[in-house]
Amino acid sequence: MHDMSSTSPTNGIRIHALQTGTVAIKELQRNGQGREKSSLLRVFAARRWTEPLPILAWLIEHPEGLIVIDTGETSRVSEPGYFPRWHPYYRVALREWVTREDEIGPQLRRLGFSPDDVRWVVLTHFHTDHAGGLPHFPNSEIISSKADFEFSRGVRGRARGFLPQHWPQRFSPTLIEPSRRRFGPFPASTALTAAWDVHLLPTPGHTPGHLSVALEAGDAVFFFAGDVSYTEQLMLGGVVDGVTADPAAARATLQRVRQLVSDRPTVYLPSHDPAAVARLTQRQVVSPPSMRRPA
Ligand SMILES: [Zn+2]
Repeated sequence: MHDMSSTSPTNGIRIHALQTGTVAIKELQRNGQGREKSSLLRVFAARRWTEPLPILAWLIEHPEGLIVIDTGETSRVSEPGYFPRWHPYYRVALREWVTREDEIGPQLRRLGFSPDDVRWVVLTHFHTDHAGGLPHFPNSEIISSKADFEFSRGVRGRARGFLPQHWPQRFSPTLIEPSRRRFGPFPASTALTAAWDVHLLPTPGHTPGHLSVALEAGDAVFFFAGDVSYTEQLMLGGVVDGVTADPAAARATLQRVRQLVSDRPTVYLPSHDPAAVARLTQRQVVSPPSMRRPA
């Protein structure tokens, strides 16, 4: 089946965008409005919602195997009790629309793949709209940062709004710790593939152990940004989101991403940017403001 949401930057590699439903959050969460200190209570109280935003996951067809980046959301979010009632975030700050056919398993099958054929699943972090599709991958190697796994599990993880009770039984992902191998402006990286063309990059801020994934293909970098920012504009503007617990770390990460996109042609692919799929299919690289010619 021909997939309109994909691109093939080099022979042997194809990247697919998979939209697993939509989500609305508070405008103040998307755009922290320049505040230095985040305040969850302010986000909870805010009245303005974003428009419905895509919940994106990604599939890379790679010569070494299929790589999935994030698993999107599950349709179970509309079951009563799936989200804990006591947690205010789910009651007042999140709306999601996901059908069974939106889930990542059915989407992969429509493209002619079985989830069982996926070699690696990389989680950028454990928020529900990134980890909700985990049960589709009982046979894949799941990869996350050690820092975010520790941050998200158990009672303390639940208090922080994660849903470890819905992770697969006996869940034991491969845990990544920051290495000393630089990747451009990033001080640490881990190569996922033997070809050294897929790199896992610690990009702390949105969560303490947030991972981004960089794929080098041809002369471009495809940067799978998770929730480093909700849009490309917010990344270029250095705008920290309204829910981070560590604005300084988030700002440093955004600065590194801006350095990368000015050093190398980069297609920037966050999880909730309505323009991300078009940028992928057109392989549209970021043009940093400093490089733009005056009109
Ligand atoms: Zn998130």
